[in-house]
Amino acid sequence: MSQMDTIIQEVTVVSGDGEYKADIGIKDGKIKLITLPGQLGAASKNVIKGKDLYALPGLIDVHVHFNEPGRTDWEGFETGSKSLAAGGVTTFFDMPLNSNPPTTTTENFQLKNSRARHRSLIDYRLWGGLVPENGHHLDSLKSAGVIGFKAFMSESGIDEFQSSNDEILLQGMKKIAQLSSILAVHAESNAMIHFLEKEKKTENKCTVRDYSESRPIASELLAVERIIQYAELTKCPIHICHVSSRKVIQRILEARSAGTNITAETCPHYLFLSLDEFEDIGSLAKCAPPLREREEVEGLWLALKNGEIDIVSSDHSPSPPDLKEGETIFDGWGGIAGCQSTLSVLLTEGYHKRGFTLSEIVTLVAVNPAKRFDLYPQKGVIQVGADADLTLIDAHEEFTLKKEDLYYRHKISPYINQTFKGKVKWTISKGRVVFSDDL
Ligand SMILES: [Zn+2]
Repeated sequence: MSQMDTIIQEVTVVSGDGEYKADIGIKDGKIKLITLPGQLGAASKNVIKGKDLYALPGLIDVHVHFNEPGRTDWEGFETGSKSLAAGGVTTFFDMPLNSNPPTTTTENFQLKNSRARHRSLIDYRLWGGLVPENGHHLDSLKSAGVIGFKAFMSESGIDEFQSSNDEILLQGMKKIAQLSSILAVHAESNAMIHFLEKEKKTENKCTVRDYSESRPIASELLAVERIIQYAELTKCPIHICHVSSRKVIQRILEARSAGTNITAETCPHYLFLSLDEFEDIGSLAKCAPPLREREEVEGLWLALKNGEIDIVSSDHSPSPPDLKEGETIFDGWGGIAGCQSTLSVLLTEGYHKRGFTLSEIVTLVAVNPAKRFDLYPQKGVIQVGADADLTLIDAHEEFTLKKEDLYYRHKISPYINQTFKGKVKWTISKGRVVFSDDL
């Protein structure tokens, strides 16, 4: 047997459909061998004792904003990827905004890609943007290697990434369908948000609750309905980003059973924080769509349990602390810094509190993302020949997240001082140890 680069001994391997004990041999960035436990001796320079640990396929976070180039002072590939590694993530998909320039042309793609290649600690893919007037770039963006395209149905909050009107969406979706690619959508109704926000401000109603009410579930439903109709018309595969309510999920499931190629993601903040916490925490927990009532949080957990939601992604969207400030909650940056804590939330709230199995969790953060975006079985599964992307966890260790534990450029997050159960001990990306709890 040729010498392995790394051996993991007697670990419990978690797949999408169960668990088993094994030794794992890693060579040249790939999983080379999986044997019965105790079979692989110390014939390697790196031996990890996995006896009390679970090995999960490395997490794939399909939705982050690392803001490089152009807004690297907000995050950047180096700090962002380090944070993900600490959170057990081995692959991320970076959104086409809030980098500047946004990833809407091949030139911009190449610029971002060269930054990511040099600075990211882990594997990655890049989203392209669908915006007004870049229809003729979709072809070349696809050839350059984008994982899919992202469009906004409401304002993005970033001037250089405009939202798409119906015509842009339809034209773009027709093209994206021809390219056998996929469109990810920020689905909120611009008209409804504008109307409600204006009304709130005129009446001087600017509390956290008012902000949430200005972007109601109905606004998500309205936009999702529209994009579903367009997907049926154009046959464009779509992925609905950051769904905040099971009511939206139910409409998505209806469309799926009618034959629409549609998936959905929710995010850890919708699973961990309700409007009550938002009122306590303030702008650090501001995002769009906003946090909802506690019953919606429970609705999402039920949907996860029923397999109704495909993917959990972080939608990590950080900004410098001063941009989170503002006269009222309507003014500060709408984005949550949280990508280091996705697995912490799922293990604590899902595995420990609600009886989810580790297989169910792995399905949401590794198997389904890999399958939906054609990375399976290179990723999303622990098997011979797959990339050696592995997350080793102690499922029972408790910790309280401290500011200094965060690797973000700006150490702000609504998860600071929260106590979690289940800790990442090792993260291995393409055979390289990119995080160790002991180092
Ligand atoms: Zn986002």
